[in-house]
Amino acid sequence: MTRDYFRQKRILVTGGAGFLGSHLCDRLIAAGHEVLCVDNLFTGTRKNIAHLLDNPSFEFMRHDITFPLYVEVDEIYNLACPASPIHYQHDPIQTTKTSVHGAINMLGLAKRLNARILQASTSEVYGDPNVHPQTEDYWGHVNPIGPRSCYDEGKRCAETLFFDYHRQLGLKIKVARIFNTYGPRMHPNDGRVVSNFIVHALQGIPITLYGDGSQTRSFCYVDDTVDGLVRLMESPDEVTGPINIGNPVEMTIGDLARKIIERTNSASSTEFHDLPADDPTQRQPNISRARDLLGWEPKVTLDDGLEKTIAFFRASPSIHVAG
Ligand code: NAD
Ligand code: UDP
Ligand code: UDP
Repeated sequence: MTRDYFRQKRILVTGGAGFLGSHLCDRLIAAGHEVLCVDNLFTGTRKNIAHLLDNPSFEFMRHDITFPLYVEVDEIYNLACPASPIHYQHDPIQTTKTSVHGAINMLGLAKRLNARILQASTSEVYGDPNVHPQTEDYWGHVNPIGPRSCYDEGKRCAETLFFDYHRQLGLKIKVARIFNTYGPRMHPNDGRVVSNFIVHALQGIPITLYGDGSQTRSFCYVDDTVDGLVRLMESPDEVTGPINIGNPVEMTIGDLARKIIERTNSASSTEFHDLPADDPTQRQPNISRARDLLGWEPKVTLDDGLEKTIAFFRASPSIHVAG
């Protein structure tokens, strides 16, 4: 941690009313900073930040980052972008615009203010990887014209913009490649695997396995991911990334389904569906860079993280728990 970590800063979090962004706002407020949360509420909700609205250090602004934004801040975390396949494929043109026009506007803002700026990039820049586990020097295997391309290529172009603003104009940039993250405040209907499986298991309806369930993912608990993002932002200027932030414990989606059925004591059956187009077959981060440069690694086990996430959905008024 650098010394100025302890100085109060005014920090912009775009996408701050979303799943990851709202946890990041909590974390920055708890560290004593002022937070300006900018979100167009496409997938985020006021509920995620309701507990912060009366806090004098917190301000919410409804705004779409594809339009210019003139505010005064010391640091920018750029998280605005729908992240679940159902949401980002709902309006793919807007998804690319959010990543690309949004990055240009936030980089322009960072340039005017000489502010540090962190981009929430993604393991999806590796596409359906043929290098395993994925290291940051792997260029990826992405279909440029498929249904996932708006997200993958949008995020890849945002990375390009970040590095060009850095090389050409000397901006202080940080690029985090985030791998699948889960935890409380995931949207119950956003179709992501952890929320889908838990919600279906609690409701006693069939667990939907896409493909034969042999594809793998590596799941990181939200507190660990947020900790990685903050450490990256606080790292010395020369640490630009890209840096993988994820949990290297890899598992098949079939095993995840079994684990969630067991932990919820659910009577749900398993139902097989077609694998969506371009669904990556395997994904696991190599986190040597994060360990070496940030002193970061995940601390929360999948069992502990699932327990907290299951408790969140069990308590959620929109979920009718079976039995
Ligand atoms: P989320 O959908 O919960 O949050 C995204 C937020 O961005 C929402 O609040 C949404 O309303 C807002 N938003 C979308 N378009 C916007 C726009 N044009 N202007 C302003 N706000 C806009 O998703 P999340 O899981 O919290 O993801 C946050 C970020 O982290 C995203 O950039 C995502 O790509 C990245 N990421 C997440 C994961 C993960 O597993 N959760 C993995 C890799 C990368
Ligand atoms: N921008 C912004 N807020 C600012 C400064 C810039 O939203 O405080 C936007 C502006 O719309 C511009 C974009 O960021 O189009 C890129 O800015 P840059 O200075 O790099 O480019 P230029 O203004 O020369 O097009
Ligand atoms: N998946 C599944 N059933 C579901 C939702 C997702 O089998 O109800 C699979 C999906 O096909 C993918 C994996 O789980 O292989 C992770 O999906 P998610 O949408 O959470 O994340 P991403 O594909 O973006 O990593």
